[in-house]
Amino acid sequence: MSHDRSAVPSQVDVVIVGAGITGLAAAAWCAEHQVRAVLLEKQPEIGGTSAMSGGWFAFSGTDEQQRRGIADHDATFVADMLTASGGVADPALLEAYVREQHDAYDWMRGLGLEFDVVKLSSGQSVPRSHHAPIETVLAALLARVEAASTVVLRTGARVVDLIDDGGAVAGVEVELDGGTRQSVHAHGVLLGTGGFTRSPEIIGRYAPRQVDAMPYGGLGNTGDGLRFAAARGAALRDMEYVSGTFGSHPETTIEEHELLTAFYMGAVIVNVEGRRFVDESASYKTLGAECLEQPRQIAFQVFDADVRAQSQPGVPLSDIDALEDKGHVHRADSLRELAEAAGIDAARLERTVHEYNAVVAGDRSDAFGRTGLCNGVGRLVPVAKAPFYAYPAKTLMTSTYCGVAVDAVGRVLTESGAAVPGLYAAGEVVGGFHGKAYVTGTALSKGLIFGRVAASHIALEAAAR
Ligand SMILES: Cc1cc2nc3c(=O)[nH]c(=O)nc-3n(C[C@H](O)[C@H](O)[C@H](O)COP(=O)(O)OP(=O)(O)OC[C@H]3O[C@@H](n4cnc5c(N)ncnc54)[C@H](O)[C@@H]3O)c2cc1C
Repeated sequence: MSHDRSAVPSQVDVVIVGAGITGLAAAAWCAEHQVRAVLLEKQPEIGGTSAMSGGWFAFSGTDEQQRRGIADHDATFVADMLTASGGVADPALLEAYVREQHDAYDWMRGLGLEFDVVKLSSGQSVPRSHHAPIETVLAALLARVEAASTVVLRTGARVVDLIDDGGAVAGVEVELDGGTRQSVHAHGVLLGTGGFTRSPEIIGRYAPRQVDAMPYGGLGNTGDGLRFAAARGAALRDMEYVSGTFGSHPETTIEEHELLTAFYMGAVIVNVEGRRFVDESASYKTLGAECLEQPRQIAFQVFDADVRAQSQPGVPLSDIDALEDKGHVHRADSLRELAEAAGIDAARLERTVHEYNAVVAGDRSDAFGRTGLCNGVGRLVPVAKAPFYAYPAKTLMTSTYCGVAVDAVGRVLTESGAAVPGLYAAGEVVGGFHGKAYVTGTALSKGLIFGRVAASHIALEAAAR
């Protein structure tokens, strides 16, 4: 169904800005509860960064974990997120996430969605990343929205300003198809506008060392929501921790969005000089920042036949087969030949791997402190069995993971902690959740969980008026 011709109502209970996972989840909640809402998306298509994502959702204590013999607890999950954040995440947001996740998980299952893989990934002490094909997830949410008579979805609808009513946010000004403008009045406005990966200006202001990261994420992610909220006095959180993600081929395109984390399976990461420079088990945000400090801002995931054998075709982050098919992975029978093919200093690479294998054998300690595969978990493996592989990778600005301060129901907060009346935010536009580093799967889940929570809160308030 086309969404570029829908008439936009001038009065609703909830305006939702942005049709990524956050906006779609919020709109689906409104649809299921017969709440009058409009979902405005400035791009010609829905999906935003969410549509490009790997489809990993982080949940704890699920039946899918139990089925695989994975013992997990909500408290462990909170502790992991807090640790990954460097202790700076807002515990109230993390607690709200784990409290609400079960409802969100059951709801996804109720939509007929299934998780095909559960795996260990960045920032997790147990496998907690649940995979569902993202196009299936978004299609399920969209179907809910389209089935409702109370919710209108309009693409090509760029929100350009918020409407003020005596100090409260009371709707939005929207520009349709780059031309006509219209006011939409509402009880509350939910910003689900995503991050600012496509705004060199905002990245340059808050994270000047990251401007060389390859711009990525949805083309509409230019920080609009951040600007709207900041103009209303919203406090900003975690802006200083903006960092790209390490692990994508330099020729990655917006259509393909490939990302490989062979380092969490046992690969080492070396620069063009053949030197390691980081504990490969760290968050890929940390790896991203370190890669930007390397010559030519490129690094190589170097691994052997045993890691290659762990490839999971069709599973994002682990699909080495697909990357080899694309010609993005170098392969050789010796490390020397591999280095020559990839453009790495050969003698140094051989020495680096030799030294690393001595660490794995327990003969020496690691200069970079690596003790596990991912987040300190998992036994290290040597790079020993031919053939050998090298995947050249760069730092991509995939998501910004910082932004507007909110409380546990999504109310936008000022520096004094007061709520900006009528203004809510959820998903990637929000700060205070990830701190220094992001735990895989928490960005999609966070959008889904808090999109629903914020929509229900606005609807509750509207009903109580
Ligand atoms: C390659 C890649 C892989 C990833 N994999 C994962 C993963 O597996 N798991 C995970 O948890 N996270 C992952 N992430 C991060 C995650 O996808 C995002 O953080 C998340 O999808 C953001 O969702 P959102 O709804 O907040 O924003 P988005 O999905 O970006 O949606 C925001 C929407 O708002 C629209 N918009 C912006 N401004 C306006 C305006 N003024 N008016 C109207 N519309 C507007 C945008 O056009 C966009 O469509 C990945 C990111 C990338 C790039």
